Amino acid sequence: MTRTAISRKDAGPEARDYRTYSFWLETAGEDLTPRPSLPGPTRADVAILGAGFTGLWTAYYLLRQDPSLRVVVLESEIAGFGASGRNGAWCNSAFPVTPDELARRFGTEATRDLLLQMRGAVDEIGRVAEEEGIDAQYFRGGQLRVARGPAQLPAIEGAYRSAQELGLEEDLRLLDAQETAERIRITGAEGALYNPHCATIHPARLARGLARAVERLGGEIFERTTVTDYEGGSNPKFLTDAGEVRAGAVVLAGEAYLARLRKLRRQVLPIYSLIVLTEPLSEAQWAEIGWEGRDCVASNRYTVDYLSRTADGRILFGGRGAPYHYGSSIQDEYDRHDVTHEMLRHTAREWFPALEDARFTHAWGGPLAMPRDWMPTMSYDPSEGVATARGYTGQGVATANLSGQTLADLILGRDTAVTNLPSVNHEPRSWEPEPLRWLGARYVQRGLAKVDDRAEQTGKPPTGKTLAERLGSH
Ligand SMILES: Cc1cc2nc3c(=O)[nH]c(=O)nc-3n(C[C@H](O)[C@H](O)[C@H](O)COP(=O)(O)OP(=O)(O)OC[C@H]3O[C@@H](n4cnc5c(N)ncnc54)[C@H](O)[C@@H]3O)c2cc1C
Repeated sequence: MTRTAISRKDAGPEARDYRTYSFWLETAGEDLTPRPSLPGPTRADVAILGAGFTGLWTAYYLLRQDPSLRVVVLESEIAGFGASGRNGAWCNSAFPVTPDELARRFGTEATRDLLLQMRGAVDEIGRVAEEEGIDAQYFRGGQLRVARGPAQLPAIEGAYRSAQELGLEEDLRLLDAQETAERIRITGAEGALYNPHCATIHPARLARGLARAVERLGGEIFERTTVTDYEGGSNPKFLTDAGEVRAGAVVLAGEAYLARLRKLRRQVLPIYSLIVLTEPLSEAQWAEIGWEGRDCVASNRYTVDYLSRTADGRILFGGRGAPYHYGSSIQDEYDRHDVTHEMLRHTAREWFPALEDARFTHAWGGPLAMPRDWMPTMSYDPSEGVATARGYTGQGVATANLSGQTLADLILGRDTAVTNLPSVNHEPRSWEPEPLRWLGARYVQRGLAKVDDRAEQTGKPPTGKTLAERLGSH
């Protein structure tokens, strides 16, 4: 898969081939011709920046509840261009902050409420896809958190204990090495924690289908329209390259890209996550690997690995490790990082010897957003008319659905089960100014990689006490 080397500025309306940004966009089943741009200044009841999952779910729930609203979505590229059209296909009930850390910060009851809502979001996405006729390839295979090597066993046992403390362990299962191998054969797997509250999706089909569902409900989506600034107060508005959009409420749903707006530059840290994908595997290769249940699979590395099995029989292997870029910069060229992509191919072959001769056909990536305390925000300030949901730290597929439900209720002034969760109106502190931000992010990235390597070499679990661990994990 090659990418035409066109800079953002040079790209004319026809110049970009959006299919080259991920396997998902390539196989979205359409040619991805952009919708018309905003023709000029306008007014709306609600204006939304970003046609990813957050913006689209917010528009969807607003219009479901009040079809009379004029909802306008402004998207600088096309619907599904960002992380929503490029991710690892996990639709997972896990929240970016661990249950232990959530309970420490917000108490057991609030944590339990939040995690139950996350489980509900996984179901809800499947339900809406079905109801709206979106061919999202939603498949409820569950999730398998694998201990690769003895050093990782305490982490999965600890995760099970945390679920027990919240009374949420009922349908989780700790598997020993033999039971794990019955689901999937991974080199060095010593055990796993199985969680049924997870599905795989075709992310771009979900995003694109959701955009059409929003339009069927009367929402308007303008593509290749960039918001350059926003203002709250008595006249909330977006400033765009095609003029002002005044609205009763403006919604900032741009995740990592929000760091490009001057007012939000230090609110989220864009970190790249990268993916490699194999060709469709043969029956013999699948017989060696197993994985009939198509669970989403991860191990317990701080540096994060995530795997899924696509509907057409490929293995997707994703991970972090690409370096943070100075000044929170986001560029197309960062989507590819040869060293990291090669490391992912190498690791995939290490996990699955059956891949020795398999071809890797695709490699891509994209930016996700880390807030300073790893805690997503879903907020609305009625006095300012400004709403936002962001900071999913790479676990945003199901979370964005919860955000959409929450922002819609907050904007409509409804007091519901989702409007009192700990994520609502949460305000993380800002990231440090540069160059401290760059120094800190690079230090933590390198430090966590070293901790992972040491654990694998010594067979001893991480202590959780190194500076990098204290700074960079929750
Ligand atoms: C490689 C990768 C793998 C991932 N894997 C998973 C996974 O398996 N499971 C999971 O749960 N999460 C995963 N994530 C995270 C998840 O995909 C995101 O958290 C989620 O999609 C965020 O949705 P969003 O709508 O908030 O943001 P995005 O999908 O990034 O959408 C933001 C949109 O806003 C637009 N935009 C930005 N700025 C402007 C502007 N100024 N004006 C107009 N439009 C603008 C962008 O073009 C973009 O389309 C992954 C992320 C990446 C990058």
